[in-house]
Amino acid sequence: MNESKNWKDRLSPGVNAIKPSGIRKFFDIAASMEDVISLGVGEPDFVTPWSIRESCVYGLERGYTSYTANRGMMELREEIAKHYEKKFNISYDPATDILVTVGVSEALDIALRAVVKPGDEVLIPEPCYVSYAACATLAGGVAVPVAAKIENEFRITPAELEPYVTDKTKVLLIGYPNNPTGAVMSRKDLLAIADFAEQHDLIVISDEIYGDLSYGDQEHVAFSSLPKMQERTILLNGFSKAYAMTGWRIGYSLANPTITAAMTKIHQYTMLCAPITAQVAAIEALRRGEKYMKKMVAEYDRRRHLIYDGLTKMGLPTFEPKGAFYIFPNISPTGMTSDEFAEKLLEKEHVALVPGSAFGECGEGHVRCSYATAIDKISEALARIEDFVKRYSK
Ligand code: PLP
Repeated sequence: MNESKNWKDRLSPGVNAIKPSGIRKFFDIAASMEDVISLGVGEPDFVTPWSIRESCVYGLERGYTSYTANRGMMELREEIAKHYEKKFNISYDPATDILVTVGVSEALDIALRAVVKPGDEVLIPEPCYVSYAACATLAGGVAVPVAAKIENEFRITPAELEPYVTDKTKVLLIGYPNNPTGAVMSRKDLLAIADFAEQHDLIVISDEIYGDLSYGDQEHVAFSSLPKMQERTILLNGFSKAYAMTGWRIGYSLANPTITAAMTKIHQYTMLCAPITAQVAAIEALRRGEKYMKKMVAEYDRRRHLIYDGLTKMGLPTFEPKGAFYIFPNISPTGMTSDEFAEKLLEKEHVALVPGSAFGECGEGHVRCSYATAIDKISEALARIEDFVKRYSK
């Protein structure tokens, strides 16, 4: 359609202030090429385990095709509460503290919209998931990026956050295990962040979607399970990554009753409820899915070693990821920017990955590779990247 007016001026300021995601851009280019190995999109290459799919099929046979309660099926909320009680020894009331959402994506959006007043500042350690700053901006807040440093294994400390605190700082938004770096925070690291949150009376939004993808003896600590943190934490989690359920669009938030009720108000007017099919499947995932999830995690771990060794051997300084399924090599020795590296690698070698700059300014000089890809494809991609680095380094 031809446009006869300047429609951009009529859009909301929030939407004009944000850029399209740098991840999707590369995904779309890669999809139009042949023989591409994609280490680009953060999506498991596994299909959802059969017993989870089967529970949905069975649910459909029984006629489960309706809306559910706005907050989600009580059976699912009860399973979520049981899971947190058992795993982290923390109690959530299924009636008041749990909201089932359309993925963590929705939970993140409505959590920010529920608590951010215009001009409130949201501290966001970067590099981080592309939606954090965008959702904070759309909620009317001001995203305040704080660079996490590779020297500190991409963890964030109170000393790094402190200079960015003002009287408008309202929220700290963290995501560990981290997308895109694979960094994790130990209990000790998180306790220091908890003190900082307490001292500045911050709401902490903790995106723990990769919590189950913690490798080796790395323990995942739910932020809300730390002393005095439950009331001020909005914990987000979902099924997309750990259970290979990206397409089902199902997640949840755990928060105090007032915040949960506020989020539910937005949710009921915008989503009504998460799909019943996905809720039925999520119940099965929590009841009997853990063994399948653990198998997938073991496979990611195997790939993690392969890709870390490969990137390091070709001379790219690389932080060894401890969680999630991403690795974030430093490509600055090649003399290319992260955009140049990603574009040229796709053009010359047909390997898709994501420039680090997509995850915040401090991601420049790095690229993100997802290893949620079959091991033979990772090996082939490593061979192509090595060849590329040898041929095109400046
Ligand atoms: N949070 C992080 C850190 C992610 O990496 C992603 C997806 O890549 C999401 C949230 C969105 O997850 P969902 O599929 O549950 O909306």
